[in-house]
Amino acid sequence: VQRSEKREFQAEVRQLLHLMIHSLYSNREIFLRELISNASDACDKLRFLAIDRPELLGSGELAIDLIADVGAGTLTVKDNGIGMSREEVIDNLGTIARSGTKRFLESLSGDQKKDAQLIGQFGVGFYSAFIVADRVTVLTKRADQDEAVRWESDGQGEFTVEPSFKTDRGTEVILHLRDDAREFLEDYRLRSIVRRYSDHIGLPIRLHKNKGEPETLNQARAFWTRPKSELKDDDYVQFYQHIAHDFEKPLAWAHHKVEGALEYTSLLYIPRHAPFDLWDREQARGVQLYVKRVFIMDKAAELLPPYLRFVRGLVDTADLPLNVSREILQNNRTVEKIRAALVKRVLDLLDDLASTRPDDYALFWATFGPVLKEGIVEDASNRERIAKLCRFYSTAQPDKAEIALDAYLARMPRDQDKIYYLTADTLAAARNSPHLEAFRAKGWEVLLMTDRIDEWVVGHLTEYQGKRLESVARVSKDIESKIETPDKARLEGEYREVLERVGKHLGDRVGSVRLSARLTESPSCLVAPEHGLSRRLEEMLKRAGE
Ligand code: ADP
Ligand code: MG
Repeated sequence: VQRSEKREFQAEVRQLLHLMIHSLYSNREIFLRELISNASDACDKLRFLAIDRPELLGSGELAIDLIADVGAGTLTVKDNGIGMSREEVIDNLGTIARSGTKRFLESLSGDQKKDAQLIGQFGVGFYSAFIVADRVTVLTKRADQDEAVRWESDGQGEFTVEPSFKTDRGTEVILHLRDDAREFLEDYRLRSIVRRYSDHIGLPIRLHKNKGEPETLNQARAFWTRPKSELKDDDYVQFYQHIAHDFEKPLAWAHHKVEGALEYTSLLYIPRHAPFDLWDREQARGVQLYVKRVFIMDKAAELLPPYLRFVRGLVDTADLPLNVSREILQNNRTVEKIRAALVKRVLDLLDDLASTRPDDYALFWATFGPVLKEGIVEDASNRERIAKLCRFYSTAQPDKAEIALDAYLARMPRDQDKIYYLTADTLAAARNSPHLEAFRAKGWEVLLMTDRIDEWVVGHLTEYQGKRLESVARVSKDIESKIETPDKARLEGEYREVLERVGKHLGDRVGSVRLSARLTESPSCLVAPEHGLSRRLEEMLKRAGE
């Protein structure tokens, strides 16, 4: 038998606890949301484990109980979910700093008022218990183990863990409420907090009053199975914050129930901000997968293509087996069909956002545009649709505002039949490029592309709405002829000698030296050959050592 053990909290956890206890009071009711959220996750994990081992689930209903003991001054949040082993208790409740903890600490401003708001929005999890309690006891027993564990701390830097006794599986978090937090023993207070923050939880949250039957406070149905007509915006926001572990509101969402050849419900969200690891290719991501309401996995990458990796949410389907594994997901016809349907849903959602809330769409584009653009390269079947959603800087737009290709086409003069663009490292470099001079003189708009990925984008997006895309930095008969000057022949004669001398001087560093009508102010410019690598791509490859 293991003895009682005293441990120190990990440094970041200690910092977080200190902050919570000493400075953050407003919005403190969110502790309940966090504990209920953990209880709900624990029940999801048990359901999943029980797919292979049904005996673990037993016959009782999964539920979360809130027990207020006015005499003892304690509030207990109890679940009959998976529970924790001794190791898990030590890791999860004290030793391993969660990514959320770190990010939370990083975003603190030092301004108490602002930080108090932050904590209200942030998923700071279990430790928020110490906002209202001066001592927290956790009693837990893992569903597949016999030993129960007791964890206790006053949040001052240390915690104890010891073997304990508990008959049923699951976890009880017992909060010894501070004197000024006794309001959280009141029925009406608990009821209103649960309705406000946790109504979306898919299992019953029962309030045990001093006398009589417990009262179920929420709808207790999987959120996404509820009819849309019943759900308010705020419900969708709360649910998003629960499953995405995000502290901000989502930018947009789409909720669909599909019946027929394919049967699934999808609830997809566009976040407002990028995860810190958006560009980390190793990082797993994706939406949650449920099969017939049973949580199967987080970050099911196969359900959406990489260029939609910013989408959060879930898919619940009856068309996959409960024991579906990542391996099965990888080569599955049903998954392919669902994936194709989800891509359409997301693109529809973005279309809708772009046309109904352009300011929010601009925010989306600034955050996730470069990711979505990958779709032009990767997803030939949706290329035109994705291109429609893209935004670019343009010579017709003096500021930093970006425009859609459709806007470009709409104001294209009659004598122009191509979409012209220029790629450059920075917007300033693009705007000052000598390549633009003739186009400016002619009044033809040029798109200015400054993302790294743009070279690949234009490599794949050769056409939009039947109009070809063409770089103004390329040698093209077409451009030259369109901006022809009438006295070209005379000028060529006059400058022949100069051109020859420059050509000899540069030798084989250039393909040829020619007189151009492109320039109206600058004396010279470099152009890329009509076929072959663009200059910028050439430079990028050189820098990458290829
Ligand atoms: P998060 O929920 O974001 O992971 P928390 O601080 O809320 O972070 O919880 C930390 C971890 O502690 C959880 O990931 C889980 O492993 C464990 N945990 C917390 N509460 C429970 C519970 N009621 N049952 C089982 N495990 C729990
Ligand atoms: Mg949590």
